[in-house]
Amino acid sequence: MEFKELTVQELAHGYVWDAEVGLYHCIFCGETFEKGLIYRSRSRMTSARRAMAEHILDSHNGVFYGLMSLDKQIHGLSDSQKDILEGMYLEKGNREVSEEMGISAATVRTHKFHIQRMKREAKILLALLEQIENEQILQERKHLEQSGAKETVSYPNIPSKEPEPAEHVQPSLIGNSLHPFFTQYNLK
Ligand SMILES: [Zn+2]
Repeated sequence: MEFKELTVQELAHGYVWDAEVGLYHCIFCGETFEKGLIYRSRSRMTSARRAMAEHILDSHNGVFYGLMSLDKQIHGLSDSQKDILEGMYLEKGNREVSEEMGISAATVRTHKFHIQRMKREAKILLALLEQIENEQILQERKHLEQSGAKETVSYPNIPSKEPEPAEHVQPSLIGNSLHPFFTQYNLK
């Protein structure tokens, strides 16, 4: 199984569910658990899904540390970013993290701000790639584009309202760049 094929949800859970064969696959070591079978885990009997979750916690120290221990070339995180993320994961305050890292609390806050910015950028990149790679989105867009062309022919008398362009700004960029959603997003 190629790493790049995993979804964010699968990465976040630490396993892949293969419905065709009824198997849970650990994304870190490839161990499988078969749905319907009863497993012995932590000295008692349990379901495949529960055994999968316990395996990830017991064998890989949980999904968080499993992902953090991946090669830097895969997750792309610096050592500082990993320290900051671990502090957040362990619910440590900025002061405690700053003392452990030997940096100021203000720098910790700056790191956190950058991580939130990376999160926003990563999500937008994923959404952009969906427009290119997601077959369902592609098909729907093509369908809408085709039916839109037909409607223009069917209803030629609807007056089109020209948007008033702002100075020095391309009209097509105004809506998205100033939408409250993005403003709120930036402030978080
Ligand atoms: Zn594993």
